Amino acid sequence: MSAAPPHPGVLDDRYGRVARDLRVSLTDKCNLRCSYCMPAEGLPWLAGPDLLTDDEIVRLVGVAVRRLGVTEVRFTGGEPLIRPGLTRIVAAVAALEPRPRISLTTNGIGLDRVAPALAAAGLDRVNVSLDTLDPDRFARLTRRPRLPDVLAGLAGALAAGLAPVKVNSVLMRGINDDEAPALLRFALAHGYELRFIEQMPLDAQHGWDRAAMVTADEILTALGDAFALVPDPAHRGAAPAETWLVDGGPARVGVIASVTRPFCGDCDRTRLTADGQIRNCLFATEESDLRGALRGGADDAELARRWQQATRGKRAGHGIDDPTFLRPARPMSAIGG
Ligand code: SAM
Ligand code: SF4
Repeated sequence: MSAAPPHPGVLDDRYGRVARDLRVSLTDKCNLRCSYCMPAEGLPWLAGPDLLTDDEIVRLVGVAVRRLGVTEVRFTGGEPLIRPGLTRIVAAVAALEPRPRISLTTNGIGLDRVAPALAAAGLDRVNVSLDTLDPDRFARLTRRPRLPDVLAGLAGALAAGLAPVKVNSVLMRGINDDEAPALLRFALAHGYELRFIEQMPLDAQHGWDRAAMVTADEILTALGDAFALVPDPAHRGAAPAETWLVDGGPARVGVIASVTRPFCGDCDRTRLTADGQIRNCLFATEESDLRGALRGGADDAELARRWQQATRGKRAGHGIDDPTFLRPARPMSAIGG
């Protein structure tokens, strides 16, 4: 491990990793209540004045892109589609030089209506979260009867050219863990790319149980009973999903085994929360306040310096399996998943 100072123009850490993929949370609020993410009653939301304004978000993304080598910007939340300024923010980020690739992680509700405007503004692609194809299950799992809206959102994204349209699915034992093959059949039939994500200890209500988690191995066994899967390591790159060619390809399925096969050694992410805090890891227990610096008059060079400093503190791994593991104080919905 080197204690060398950061390299100018990049977000490098002490382990030689370089962050080029920025996740920006646009809000901590959401119109669903997925049980692995939020309690039924919601959460104490961030106060309005604490949220970055649209202009502040664009300025900070600009610092990351123009001064720190960030090439990928993903908007998330909470539910990013409920942020009124989303299209404007996307357009302003698409106008940055060099232009980053821009994507969105969303629950898909309302996406059919805004997908054309988002594509026109410069959004390149979307990931839509969908854990079940059964309307009753969907209503139980998310506590809202909105499956038709999500399906319409997926179709709208494809029609607007936001491809590849990816579908993110989390399986929960006894709830939807029998649906892996059905979800893959659905994705193949519509031309979506499906990725399963292992459930992580990031729910606000601390209900995660390692022993009950549906593992990547279980998911692959279930898929392997219904499809011929061939590993496709060339496709992985820095992305966390391990991918498999389905029935000879070209269709693929991915599994993000964050818990059982952590990919921390290849992590290239940095995160900005809706209230302007830098997080160097989903599981970080510390944050760096860029909002205070920005509102205190810091120039772009100073903001970049602080971002680099925050990145130097990134730990080697998340340590979920360590006895000393500490959950982050914020849940996934407030960090930006
Ligand atoms: N609301 C948007 C959505 O659902 O796509 C964006 C935010 S959500 C926090 C981002 C992703 O995190 C979703 O794909 C969701 O399924 C996933 N997620 C939320 N809580 C999780 C958990 N405890 N473990 C694994 N994935 C989780
Ligand atoms: Fe909302 Fe996404 Fe969390 Fe579900 S996973 S409650 S859609 S933020």
